[in-house]
Amino acid sequence: MTEMLKVENLTKTFGENKVLRGIDGTVNSGQVIVVIGPSGGGKSTFLRCLNLLEKPTSGKVSFEGTDLTGLSEKALDDIREKMGMVFQSFNLFSNMNVLDNLTLAPKRVKNEAEAKAQTHAIELLEKVGLADKKAAYPDSLSGGQQQRVAIARALAMDPDVMLFDEPTSALDPEMVGEVLKVMQDLASDGMTMVVVTHEMGFARQVADEVWFMDGGNIAEKGTPEQIFDHPQNERTKDFLSKVL
Ligand code: ADP
Ligand code: MG
Repeated sequence: MTEMLKVENLTKTFGENKVLRGIDGTVNSGQVIVVIGPSGGGKSTFLRCLNLLEKPTSGKVSFEGTDLTGLSEKALDDIREKMGMVFQSFNLFSNMNVLDNLTLAPKRVKNEAEAKAQTHAIELLEKVGLADKKAAYPDSLSGGQQQRVAIARALAMDPDVMLFDEPTSALDPEMVGEVLKVMQDLASDGMTMVVVTHEMGFARQVADEVWFMDGGNIAEKGTPEQIFDHPQNERTKDFLSKVL
């Protein structure tokens, strides 16, 4: 197992607000880490620190052996290409059709030729079950379809790791399953993933490790069985009693 991401004593402070209070963790290649915990606990901030979208106050974030905290913005841009991110809101380019949404970054950033970018994009659309929507505009798609396009768009850059921040929280309930299915398939294909979610069924089924985050700390880490069936920490127990 090779270390893909490693976080050491990571802290983040906004003004007086200590949002991350010394996080340690390792994500190995091919692992799926699911981060759960109450709102305001620092999950999004943690995820954004992993690709330095948020600058850590102290501590170290290493990706594939490189400490990111000392890098220039230019160097970080190169690294961020390898870290796909999917948010709660889909953020598709509304003035472009689905295919162009997928090919834009590979063409602009990686100088991929149009034909190659399109072939890859269509493969990815097939993977997320939307090959027939390549000419559609985002507004004509359902929320679940838009989020699947957003996932395919992130994959178009051939990332080494995918970061998901509550990817199904903005969806109507009947669309949650189709997005989780795409994520589950991705995990089965061996993608390294860090997923913040309130979908406990997904966490139980797909996670290699569950990290329970509360008050800026990872209060408890373990396998899904450990966390869901035998939680040790009182805060984990309290949280799970409210959500399960
Ligand atoms: P979670 O994703 O677990 O709900 P967040 O990481 O979004 O938690 O937020 C944790 C805390 O950090 C909250 O108190 C939030 O108000 C604060 N916070 C997050 N981003 C910022 C920011 N850009 N500026 C100031 N405070 C922030
Ligand atoms: Mg959040």
